[in-house]
Amino acid sequence: MSAIKVSKKFSDLQPSLMVKVFQAASKVEDLSNLGIGEPDFHTEPDIVDAAAKAGKEGFTHYAPIPGFLDLREEICSYWSRKYGMEALPEEVFITTGGIQPPFLFFQVILDPGDEVILTEPCFVAYFQQVEYNGGKVVSVPCLEENNFLPKAEDIEKAITPRTKALMLNTPCNPTGAVLGREELEKIAAVAKKHDIFVISDEIYESILFEGEHIPIATLPGMKERTMTVGGFSKSHAMTGWRIGYAIAPRKILGLMQVLSVVQTFGANTLAQKAALYALKTQEEKVRERNEIFRKRVNYVHDRINSMPGMSCLKAGGSFYLFPNIKGSGMDSETFAFWLLEKAKVAVIPGVSFGKSGEGYIRISCALPMAELEKAMDRMEEALKSL
Ligand code: PMP
Repeated sequence: MSAIKVSKKFSDLQPSLMVKVFQAASKVEDLSNLGIGEPDFHTEPDIVDAAAKAGKEGFTHYAPIPGFLDLREEICSYWSRKYGMEALPEEVFITTGGIQPPFLFFQVILDPGDEVILTEPCFVAYFQQVEYNGGKVVSVPCLEENNFLPKAEDIEKAITPRTKALMLNTPCNPTGAVLGREELEKIAAVAKKHDIFVISDEIYESILFEGEHIPIATLPGMKERTMTVGGFSKSHAMTGWRIGYAIAPRKILGLMQVLSVVQTFGANTLAQKAALYALKTQEEKVRERNEIFRKRVNYVHDRINSMPGMSCLKAGGSFYLFPNIKGSGMDSETFAFWLLEKAKVAVIPGVSFGKSGEGYIRISCALPMAELEKAMDRMEEALKSL
C-alpha cells in the first residue's frame, strides 16, 4: 500500500488537550473521573424497548434525509409547549448528534478567511469545526466577573465585514452559565443591526437550576437568522444513540441536507424512533434527573469553595462547574495533571475550552453522589498538602 499523506488542512487540526488528559487518566486505577461530558445514567429501558419495537415493525431502512416527520412534529410541539418557540416540521432537521449541525453549517457557509465569533470558554469541537472548514475563529471572552456570560458590546466589537456567524451556547459547556433575557435581547439587537446569523447550541436546555431557558430564536426578528441546536444526548441520557437536531430557516437546512446526503444519508432510524418515544413519555424522568444534577452540582460547588486556593461560581444549568484555580499557582494543564497524579481525580484544564479558560478547570458532576464525595475528599486532601 502506498503511504498516506494527510492534507495540510488535516495536519493543522490540533488534537485537544482534553484527549491528552483522558489518555493519562485511562492508566490510573481507582480513578475519580470528573472529566466525563455525558450523563452517568443509562438510557431508560422503555426507550430502548421502543427502538427494538420499531426494528421489529420494519423501521430498518433509510430514513428520510430531514428525519422522520413524526419526530420533527414532536420536536416542534416540545419547543412550542416549553418555550413558545414556533417552528414547522420543515424547519427541523434530524442529525447525527447535536455535534453535526454546526459542522454542516460551517461547511455550507464558510469561505477561507471567513470569521465565526465564538464566545469562549466553549465546547472544544467548535474551534476545530470552524478551522477545519477554512474559517477563522474570533474569540469573545466570557469572564468570571461577568458570570462567564458574553457581553453584547464585546460581540459587536468582534464583528468585521468577514463575520459569517455568531455561536452561542446556553446553558454553557464548560461554565454552566445561562444567558438571561436581558443579555439575549442585547445580543439579538447586535445580530440584527449587523445582519449576523446565530447558531444557538441549546443542547443542555433541559438541565436548568436557576432562571429560565430562553431560546434566542423566540426574540423578535431572530427566528429567520438563528439555527437552534438541540438533542437527546444530555436530556435523555442518549449520547450513544447519536441523535440531535437543528431548528432553522428551511433554506439553510436544505443546503445542509444536500451535504448530509453524501455524508450520513440521514440519521439512524431506530434511534429516531427511540427519540420520538422519549420526547413523548419522559418529561417526569427528565425533571427527576434535573433535581439529581442540581443536588450534585450544589454539593460540589460548596465543597470546592471550602478548599484552599479554590473558588467556584454557581452553575445556572448543565452538569458542569468551572472553578477558579488561580490560588494554586498552577496553570490549568499543570493543575489537571498534578491532580490526576496526586489525588487520582480527573478534571479538564480550562484552557482546553479556549484561552479565556486558563486559570480554571471543568468539573463534570455526572457521577453518583458517593463518588462525588470521594472525589471531593481526595481533592481537598491534595490541595491541603500544597
Ligand atoms: N454541544 C455541546 C455544548 C456539547 O457539550 C455537546 C456534547 N458534549 C454537543 C453539542 C454534542 O452532543 P451530541 O452528543 O448530541 O452530538
